[in-house]
Amino acid sequence: MMKMVVCIKQVPMVSELPWDPATGTLKRDLAEGMMNPACRSAMEAALRIREAEGGEITAITMGPPMAEEILYEAIALGADRGVLLTDRRMAGADTSVTSYTLARAIEKACAGFDLILCGFSTSDSETAQVGPQLAEELDVPGVAYVDEIAVSGRTVRVQRLADNFLETLEMALPALVTVTTSVYTPRYVPLGGLQAAFSQAEIETLDAEALGLDQEMIGVKASATKILNVTSPTVGKKNIVLTGTPKRIVEQLFERFDDKIGGAIGKDLKADKKKRS
Ligand SMILES: Cc1cc2nc3c(=O)[nH]c(=O)nc-3n(C[C@H](O)[C@H](O)[C@H](O)COP(=O)(O)OP(=O)(O)OC[C@H]3O[C@@H](n4cnc5c(N)ncnc54)[C@H](O)[C@@H]3O)c2cc1C
Repeated sequence: MMKMVVCIKQVPMVSELPWDPATGTLKRDLAEGMMNPACRSAMEAALRIREAEGGEITAITMGPPMAEEILYEAIALGADRGVLLTDRRMAGADTSVTSYTLARAIEKACAGFDLILCGFSTSDSETAQVGPQLAEELDVPGVAYVDEIAVSGRTVRVQRLADNFLETLEMALPALVTVTTSVYTPRYVPLGGLQAAFSQAEIETLDAEALGLDQEMIGVKASATKILNVTSPTVGKKNIVLTGTPKRIVEQLFERFDDKIGGAIGKDLKADKKKRS
């Protein structure tokens, strides 16, 4: 039986995210949480693979206790199991420590997995590092930014757009993919499914002890990445009105913006002009 694991992260609902102008940071604790959009696409991909091939889907997340909401949502969508990794000592983990913790949990709670599906990136931190690092931690092949997945026997074939090239790649299972939002449009959560998930499903909750993790290897203590400052960039905009004949307007445009236009078309316009004069 095909065993799939979908890694999902709870992210703040950006439209409702309160901003603290005094500190310049987001008040995450006041925001409503939701399943990261790319994780929803990874979940959709897993559901379609199960529809075609059969199998079992485990949704797993590491986060504060409230992150269990997205596990219920995953079960309402069709996941068979929900696993929550939560422990105050796991908080503040950077991507490397997150991947380490997820890997140890997957080995313990999802032994014998065939395919791990992650979102390609999250909407709140957007590093896109956890999937590839998780493949390294578990010592399985991985492909990031996958648009389409097809499983056949012990092989997974994936397609992804790299610049202007459509790549088709094949890996032997067990393997890991990170999924984009371009093909796997998530299905709606059925209301009945949500009600059944909340009333009947049991989320398996694991902390550092249950996972047998050394506390020096998890959370903020183990994380080498330090966020020194968060500021909101100021964007200055200026309107410029160019006047004169159309020819003169085009000349002025090139005089003022030759660097930007040259950059966009891949030419050094200043050098070209010098050569011509
Ligand atoms: C108690 C506690 C509190 C936490 N609080 C925060 C917080 O306030 N802000 C914050 O950003 N993170 C928090 N985390 C989680 C962790 O620090 C981040 O998930 C991690 O750094 C991921 O970075 P990213 O979002 O850039 O991932 P990316 O690399 O962009 O994520 C790519 C994909 O990796 C997978 N993935 C990433 N993170 C997780 C996860 N946690 N669980 C399952 N799959 C995952 C998903 O499939 C995701 O689509 C907390 C964790 C715990 C235990």
